Amino acid sequence: MADSKIAKGKIPELLKAVSADYELYAPTAEDGTIAFRRIDSAKEAMLDYRNTVVSAKELFLPRAEVVYEFDGEKFLDDALLDQKRVVFGMRPCDCRALSLLDLNFDTEQIKDPFYVTRRQNTVVVALACNEPVSSCFCTAVGSGPYSEEGADVLMADIGDHLSVKAITDKGQDFMKQYGKLFSANGSADWKKLAKGAEDKMKRKPEIENVKASLDERFENDVWDDISQKCLGCGACSYMCPTCYCFDLVSEKTAGGTRKVKTWDCCMFGLFTLHASGHNPRPVNSARLRQKLMHKFNYYRERYGVDSCVGCGRCVRKCPVNLDIREVLEQVAAAPNVTTEK
Ligand code: SF4
Ligand code: SF4
Repeated sequence: MADSKIAKGKIPELLKAVSADYELYAPTAEDGTIAFRRIDSAKEAMLDYRNTVVSAKELFLPRAEVVYEFDGEKFLDDALLDQKRVVFGMRPCDCRALSLLDLNFDTEQIKDPFYVTRRQNTVVVALACNEPVSSCFCTAVGSGPYSEEGADVLMADIGDHLSVKAITDKGQDFMKQYGKLFSANGSADWKKLAKGAEDKMKRKPEIENVKASLDERFENDVWDDISQKCLGCGACSYMCPTCYCFDLVSEKTAGGTRKVKTWDCCMFGLFTLHASGHNPRPVNSARLRQKLMHKFNYYRERYGVDSCVGCGRCVRKCPVNLDIREVLEQVAAAPNVTTEK
């Protein structure tokens, strides 16, 4: 399907039609912050936002979900969702994060049925960024404010209209379904729009050699220096669209038991505590190093890409202003001297 556009005045009509056919999620104001929530009316959607505080990850990997329940005699129907959903207005960094999560949760060998079902049942309608914030660095990690990765449809704000193009077959079907609301796009120059947004991103940390510098400085005093400041609060990981550490806990129910999967965080001391009492990552410096290694070393080694989309949430929300861009620079600049512990 050729590029299309839709008048902003028709967005309420589009969202009304979509919400009649799908569960509709969009950025909406909740207690003073913008978050992705299910909406029933177009009034609730806020499309002039920069980025959400918590990423849209929670729509695919919920903070907590029951993975099975046993009533003492039989397993109850699992909670796999079959509702069709549309997530409208996701930023390209969050869409790309989904394609990075796919690498881990939807592999040839292992498929997380909950994650995979949600991905298959969801149409992701992305909204490109024209005004990146100062903490964004998506272009440094192989993405960009107009990235199409992980999205089914990409929209761009061009004034009175949104330019819209289908990226996947699913996106094409979506656009056909609501085709009467779209018109031919005539004039939008996607490359120019993307370049304009990219040029506004001033800070581009050097990521290419990060893996090597992490390999060389696994045992290094720099980790002690950096972690002095870190509170180990985990805010950075909970906000991150690509962090996916989880815990499985058993809960007693009235007649049986259930297993619940919850978000967890490698920045917590208890995360790696063994039943024996041994903890292979007993100090903050080891945990902070693990987080960086996982994102910029192990993930690249295993899947060929870094597990970071440069959304900048960890920069914005760290209570002690630990900036991941500066941390990577600090590691790269540290003397390459192995320390004996
Ligand atoms: S948000 Fe900041 S203080 Fe909290 S764990 Fe992350 S880096 Fe440390
Ligand atoms: S590490 Fe920070 S910048 Fe990278 S994806 Fe996670 S929250 Fe965003």
